[in-house]
Amino acid sequence: MYDIIIVGGGTAGLSAAIYGVRAGRKVLILEAKSYGGQIINSPEVENYPGIRKISGMEFAKGLYEQATGLGAEFRQGQVVRVEEQENCRVVVASETGKSGSDKEEQRYETKTVILATGARNRPLGLVREQELTGAGVSYCATCDGMFFRGRQVAVAGGGSTALEDAAFLSNYCEKVYLIHRRDQFRGEERLVENLRQKKNVEFVLNTVVTGLLGETVLEGVRIQDVVTKEEKELAVSGLFVAVGQMPDNKDFAGLVALDEKGYIQAAEDCRTDTPGIFVAGDCRTKDVRQLATAAADGAVAALAACEYIG
Ligand code: NAP
Repeated sequence: MYDIIIVGGGTAGLSAAIYGVRAGRKVLILEAKSYGGQIINSPEVENYPGIRKISGMEFAKGLYEQATGLGAEFRQGQVVRVEEQENCRVVVASETGKSGSDKEEQRYETKTVILATGARNRPLGLVREQELTGAGVSYCATCDGMFFRGRQVAVAGGGSTALEDAAFLSNYCEKVYLIHRRDQFRGEERLVENLRQKKNVEFVLNTVVTGLLGETVLEGVRIQDVVTKEEKELAVSGLFVAVGQMPDNKDFAGLVALDEKGYIQAAEDCRTDTPGIFVAGDCRTKDVRQLATAAADGAVAALAACEYIG
């Protein structure tokens, strides 16, 4: 019987684990992929208090080593449901990396659960977007950017991720078009200013991507000016989609209340409407989704879980 099972091994989940084990509790983290969550795709983190500059991967590694070094257990598994029983909860996870009937289910008993499922990349919703993912369409500039060395690429989005992606790609690619649907960026001004200094980055503003060109691999994108409605094509071999994140909490819809966008409803105390079930990080209804707020949620949720256990 675990005291706390944490679903998700990103910043919120690993922070919760640190607080849980330091409170003397038996803690298990279940993660479908590898540890770290979204931050592993950030080349540089410069806004986490107390750390001047660090790569996202290094940051995640530090958190993981801290949590497991203190005694938290970490296992790979896709949590498919949480069953409520009289005196405990059962977290059911299926093995990742296997498909269909080869997948075995594991069942873990626990007193409390912290849902820290994060968020996943939002697609643009274009025809053939999924089909061309991995064949020119990408959601991770730091993972795939090197494949486009010397080529022309486009980044879609206007937040800090899109701005950072464009800057990263400008180091390797011949030309980077940054396509944003408005004429003002949502991301940090400092990042915008940095891009303005780069000769091979072109801002394509008030513009949306309306189509993907190419049969088996991406050869270009069709774009439309949202003001003039004029359409044209850009010859690019890569399209990096960075239009924000969306939650993925459908497996828990029967367990806890979700808001209209699919985020798990809870206030800053990280308590869901189901006793014994807590939530932390980007998967929670909140205004500010940052590394620092994910870590803060982890601490709050773990201490709330400890208080619940008594
Ligand atoms: P974000 O801030 O939510 O920005 C998403 C961008 O995509 C917005 O510019 C949005 O346009 C655009 N967009 C959304 N849906 C679209 C669609 N269907 N078609 C075209 N464009 C669309 O997401 P993010 O950039 O991934 O950042 C997420 C969070 O992480 C933010 O809080 C951000 O500050 C933080 N972050 C921080 C850093 C850093 O500090 N170094 C780096 C990366 C991320 P509109 O602006 O018109 O809505």
